[in-house]
Amino acid sequence: MINGIREETVRRIYTIRIRKEQTIERKAVAKNAAANVGGEVQKKKPVKKAPRPGRNDPCPCGKMKPDGSRRLKYKECCGKNS
Ligand SMILES: [Zn+2]
Repeated sequence: MINGIREETVRRIYTIRIRKEQTIERKAVAKNAAANVGGEVQKKKPVKKAPRPGRNDPCPCGKMKPDGSRRLKYKECCGKNS
């Protein structure tokens, strides 16, 4: 009887502790996310995108024509669907 109660108590304490740890972890993650969003943290530099190649320019991925004679044009390669 007493043993049963003790076991139950231990189990409860253990569960609570785990829950607390999870909460702390979650808070830390949230804090990091908030820090990234705004405030005094350094501003994120915009990702530099390469200027879009012209449709007749050689594709920036560098693929060659199957016969190897020249680079594929953008419109023949990655720009096919755009
Ligand atoms: Zn390409």
